[in-house]
Amino acid sequence: MKRKPWIGCMPLVDKERESYWLLPGYMEGIILAGGIPIMLPLTGEKDIIIQLAEQCDGFLLTGGQDVSPQIYGEEKLSVCGECSEERDAMEQLLLPRVLELDKPVLGICRGIQFLNAALKGTLYQDLPRELPSPFEHHQKPPYDVPSHKVKICEDTPLHKLIGKREISVNSYHHQGIKKLSPFLQAMAYAPEGLVEAVYMPDKKFVWGVQWHPEFSYQKDEDSVKIFQAFVNACR
Ligand code: MN
Repeated sequence: MKRKPWIGCMPLVDKERESYWLLPGYMEGIILAGGIPIMLPLTGEKDIIIQLAEQCDGFLLTGGQDVSPQIYGEEKLSVCGECSEERDAMEQLLLPRVLELDKPVLGICRGIQFLNAALKGTLYQDLPRELPSPFEHHQKPPYDVPSHKVKICEDTPLHKLIGKREISVNSYHHQGIKKLSPFLQAMAYAPEGLVEAVYMPDKKFVWGVQWHPEFSYQKDEDSVKIFQAFVNACR
């Protein structure tokens, strides 16, 4: 039997319930694509983080709280949502080592935002106020139905994967990419111009999407393809 890649998944943090958890779709999407998802411990201990970076075959930066503006050198505005210092701290140690090792990373929602912030980009702290738009980026449930379209850029790995110039995606995010990181390239834009997917051109597979394939993979073939591309890169 061929060995399946281990995918380390950043846990979601529920401060009220004092619990770390994951949405099933993250794990099921990875399993469907042939990987083994593992929820990582949330820790600031560098030795543990470095060992995790070395042992896992790929990393899923999940959704979650807003990214701390400190990471991109801005004051936290009152409109910024709750942040998770623990996630920020762990991901700030994990990501550089993972990039050094050139292991695959998929960032979803907060994950694309963290990638951009950690790689010298900036974020809208409160998207609806800072980039008013007729398009719904914070849809109501159910989350497995599309909310807005995105234009996919030609000559990007996402275009190569999906083979379409436009797809419809779900949308459930409070922040978004403001200044794109100089280390990332946009792969898709919402109609008003918001960056909705990125990749790191000089790495094997470092992708981020602003939408939520973990909610839509049961209905949407393109969401499955994203999980497959990620897990295949981890083999
Ligand atoms: Mn959106």
